[in-house]
Amino acid sequence: MVELITTRHPVPRARVQSMKEYHPPLGSREALRLDFNENTFACSPKVREALARISAADFTRYPEREPVEALVAAHLGLSKSQVALTNGVDEAIHVLFETFLESGDELLLPVPTYTMYEVYASATEANVVTVLAADDLQFPFERLLAAITPRTKIIAIANPNSPSGSAASREQIVELARRAPHAVVMIDEAYFHFHGETVIDLLDELPNLMVARTFSKAYGLAGLRLGILAGSAELMRWVRRVLSPYSVNSLALACLPPALEDTAYLDWYVSEVLKARAGFEAALDKAGIRRWPSCANFILVDIGSRHAEFVRLMRAAGVLVRDRSSDPGCDGRVRITIGTTEQMRHAVIVLNDAVASLKAASASQGDAQ
Ligand code: PMP
Repeated sequence: MVELITTRHPVPRARVQSMKEYHPPLGSREALRLDFNENTFACSPKVREALARISAADFTRYPEREPVEALVAAHLGLSKSQVALTNGVDEAIHVLFETFLESGDELLLPVPTYTMYEVYASATEANVVTVLAADDLQFPFERLLAAITPRTKIIAIANPNSPSGSAASREQIVELARRAPHAVVMIDEAYFHFHGETVIDLLDELPNLMVARTFSKAYGLAGLRLGILAGSAELMRWVRRVLSPYSVNSLALACLPPALEDTAYLDWYVSEVLKARAGFEAALDKAGIRRWPSCANFILVDIGSRHAEFVRLMRAAGVLVRDRSSDPGCDGRVRITIGTTEQMRHAVIVLNDAVASLKAASASQGDAQ
């Protein structure tokens, strides 16, 4: 029997049709970039030197990731079967979800958290189960434990978390991994360098643990797209079936060894941010702006109902910050990346002006009533 063609256009999967479009606000960023938690300064000069050594002929070759993966594994104290390089942590999340999530599975997420977990999960057939943090935005450990079911397939935890800046403890992560042996517990340590605590040393002990790292934050290589996914050799074997062998390009691969080697530069940038963070916290307290304690290179602040106006005023004065109001439990809250001390001194001046303008505007509105 001849089958009739009845549809006139290619139709994507139902899940893809119901996906929301996600456009990060990356346009017109010629300003002080305190909106994407990037390094706000520069990458190591050693990386620039490595780029300058790349020849025209080098561009003609497909990238070979294995030698660099071996180097990264050694740097992390792992075997090379435990480590994959990825096109940013975003690819690690995407590939991990594609490898494990199928119809009926649950992705368990404490929220608010990093947006791309839900974006990539919504392209799979799995269901997203969220656990909302309390007003203090601390890691909702007990309620997360209670939300584990036989269908839980992945638990994704950004540690430290964004946009809250809060962190789960090592003990909490161990307990979660033990209580959900049938699920992958993915700890996204994108902001590790500003926190200094890791669970990557537990990979041999906890077979369902996976850890992601990025070169986009402290290392200052967001534009190169370099991430790491680490886990047991067995879990990594499944992930590698899905991962493209060429997703990390040869320029990124050439830049990674000098970036790793230049620990002096990394230490300098991290200490600069931590110093600036303390100063910025003091300035927020002085201005009477509520803030959440942060273990990362950003701070979430409570601006209240005029959050959009605040972000506009900051942008008009040359400082980009990120409105997180539409995140669960974050109405009126704005996330501000921490840069160098000099940059943050400038940001404080601009922020105080913006807050003064908002106060003046609400006072005159009050007068009019
Ligand atoms: N994880 C978290 C928690 C993040 O905040 C971000 C970036 N904002 C990423 C991952 C993305 O990292 P990458 O640039 O390596 O894709």
